[in-house]
Amino acid sequence: MSRKVVILTSAITTYGLYKYVNSNKNKRCIYSIRSISDHPTSLIIGTGIIGLTSAYYLAKNGHKVICIEKREDVALETSYKNGALICPSLLTPWANSDVPKKYFKSIFSSSSKLTSTKIWPSTFFSLKFYRWMYEYLKNCTTKAQINNAKHLLTLSMYSRQCLNDILNENSISFSRHSNGSLQIAIDPIILKQIIEESKYINNIQILSTSDEVIKHEPILKTVKDRFYGGVFSSLDTNGNIYEFCCELKKILIEKYNVQFLFNKEIKDFLVTTTNKSHNNYQQHHITGVLTNDNKIINNIDNIILTNGNYVMPLMEKLNIYIPVYPVKGYVVEITTPANISFPSMNLVDDGNKLYISALKPTAEQGIVRVSGLAEFAGWKDIGILSEPDRAQYLYEQTIKWLPHLEPYEKTFHSCSRPVSADDIPLIGLCDDFDNLFVNCGHGSKGWTLAFGSAALLANIINQKSNKEGSEDIDPEPYSPNRF
Ligand SMILES: Cc1cc2nc3c(=O)[nH]c(=O)nc-3n(C[C@H](O)[C@H](O)[C@H](O)COP(=O)(O)OP(=O)(O)OC[C@H]3O[C@@H](n4cnc5c(N)ncnc54)[C@H](O)[C@@H]3O)c2cc1C
Repeated sequence: MSRKVVILTSAITTYGLYKYVNSNKNKRCIYSIRSISDHPTSLIIGTGIIGLTSAYYLAKNGHKVICIEKREDVALETSYKNGALICPSLLTPWANSDVPKKYFKSIFSSSSKLTSTKIWPSTFFSLKFYRWMYEYLKNCTTKAQINNAKHLLTLSMYSRQCLNDILNENSISFSRHSNGSLQIAIDPIILKQIIEESKYINNIQILSTSDEVIKHEPILKTVKDRFYGGVFSSLDTNGNIYEFCCELKKILIEKYNVQFLFNKEIKDFLVTTTNKSHNNYQQHHITGVLTNDNKIINNIDNIILTNGNYVMPLMEKLNIYIPVYPVKGYVVEITTPANISFPSMNLVDDGNKLYISALKPTAEQGIVRVSGLAEFAGWKDIGILSEPDRAQYLYEQTIKWLPHLEPYEKTFHSCSRPVSADDIPLIGLCDDFDNLFVNCGHGSKGWTLAFGSAALLANIINQKSNKEGSEDIDPEPYSPNRF
């Protein structure tokens, strides 16, 4: 394995000191961030919901935390605007036995509107896509799906508890509205499928007639003929992810002295390697990172990659394969007056893979978010609304469920989910390194899983087996070294 090995001899120990050294014939600036105190220093790369929650748990555990972000502020990529659902009940992994035939259909479909999944032609020339798809298809068996769903359930229930703890311990105000989720089935076959997928979840209620559904969610009365039944889960809620991230940033700065460095993109790593002669084993250690402005940040105890869709390309610099691929989705936001009726729970049209969620109305307005669709488009055009007609299609499907929203203003947005090859996040220490950690690959469930993933990561870093006062959670199924 050819690794870039740079040994730094600088003995800078003072916090924030800049020093120029001659490295690789280029003048580079070394930014040494070693803390004067004994607290371990953890550098977090990326400040979406995963980076911010990781910063929270590490800071709470006594780490000195520095967050590096390539954008001008926190949560401006995927965590800016998503479907808003916090849903432990919606656990079907994206890698499941139904998937191969859907992809096959999408490849040969002439209309992009017909399928919720689409593969862009440019993707067929990408080796990264094929490698990821190979691992992904291996997980599309019934056996793998059942195992993966169990791991998602464990993590999402843990995450639910962690979110409650965070909200009890801090004053965080963010727009939250939904009481539970309702998966709507338009026919008995879909109802049977939802019931089967929900069988490991406690507290679900099977609603086997449309009247029972309407008792739960009266807003659906006007479209009674469109559906057959449904499944309700009281475990779920929703919330505005961007508002939460901004509030958490404030707490990190004010309560935990976390430092944020914006407009800095990590481009490469500085690594030292130790040969363990007794077993011919090489142990690597990250001594620093190189930023886009040609600065080196060093003297860090732990490096944590939480950079969402960009983990795979960045880890390639270290010859580490992290199968996390960007899968584009669309969000439609409908802005209404405050005095109309909103769904009281998340609504999921399972047949169309359409997710509807109303945020808490303010005195002036209400917002209904709708999300869905999946496109394999690679890294090109991430965040760009390349096919507005697909978003329009989402909108039209929504209006069929909630026709009273039709007169109101709509806006479209697009972003990509960082999806791992088995749809389970990768959390933990990378093989052969003693200080390189990842927390990534949360796919379509990052808002739901963020809190538990971050707590688990902090436990792993602190080598604790479980969070005090909470259920034990085994880190093994989430290991980044499982592929
Ligand atoms: C359409 C859509 C709908 C969704 N709906 C839901 C939902 O309803 N419920 C749910 O639970 N989840 C949902 N998700 C998923 C969820 O939003 C994501 O899993 C989550 O936001 C990912 O967070 P992240 O922190 O991993 O990534 P991001 O939010 O993208 O953060 C990564 C950060 O890393 C930074 N970065 C990247 N590379 C570097 C670098 N080299 N140096 C420095 N910084 C870097 C980026 O600028 C970015 O700020 C949805 C996703 C999409 C796309």
